Amino acid sequence: MNEQERLINDLVIANRILAHEDVVDAYGHVSIRNPKNPNTFFMARSLAPELVTPNDIVELDLDGNPVSDETRHLYLERFIHGGIFEARPDVMSVVHAHAEDILPFGIANGTPLRPVIHSGSFIGAHVPVWDIADRFGDTNLLVANVEQGRDLAKTLANNNVALMRGHGFAAAAGSLIEVVRMSVYLPRNARALSAALRLGGEIKSLSPGEIDARNRGYKPYSPETWRAWEYWATKCGCGDRLTKPDGE
Ligand code: MN
Repeated sequence: MNEQERLINDLVIANRILAHEDVVDAYGHVSIRNPKNPNTFFMARSLAPELVTPNDIVELDLDGNPVSDETRHLYLERFIHGGIFEARPDVMSVVHAHAEDILPFGIANGTPLRPVIHSGSFIGAHVPVWDIADRFGDTNLLVANVEQGRDLAKTLANNNVALMRGHGFAAAAGSLIEVVRMSVYLPRNARALSAALRLGGEIKSLSPGEIDARNRGYKPYSPETWRAWEYWATKCGCGDRLTKPDGE
């Protein structure tokens, strides 16, 4: 397997993991920037992530146009990915999904989503909410063009996750494994916070120091991170697809 085949194989695994962990369903997508060309990225054609195979992966430029001739339907909301890759040179991978547990925090004014459990530390201290209506008025809430993708990226700024009001979230990270892990734990963190809010009383979030301590020295192929990737990949039937890059 050459480097690009390995990358696409990992992207297929990521699609299946996100489906099996209920982060995506028929909708939602994950992408990875081309390490050899920062101005393009890979993602599936318009297809439920559960069903994605290597042949379904297409290469797009940051405006969401396919690099090669492509007659198959593409994800309408590919502009989320292009917008974030354009604004954030440090980001190598993006997830967009509609996981239900995060939705209340995009619509309840004054109740921010913040990390409250150790595995939620990956989302970072601040999770901004992007409201498409602020700039674009009444829409169908979907990110359907380059301008809307860029506006979302502006709200995301240097954070790891942005909620999209009444719609879902966008998560960005320096590697595919990281963005998948964040996207799996984001709804779980939201669920714990929602349950705590129902109990009443004061909520104790992770402190900035706790968030830093948890994220310090992160490596995508550290035994701790690999353990999660290996587990999730095996659980969704992709155990035979697992590979590590040379030297890892
Ligand atoms: Mn969407």
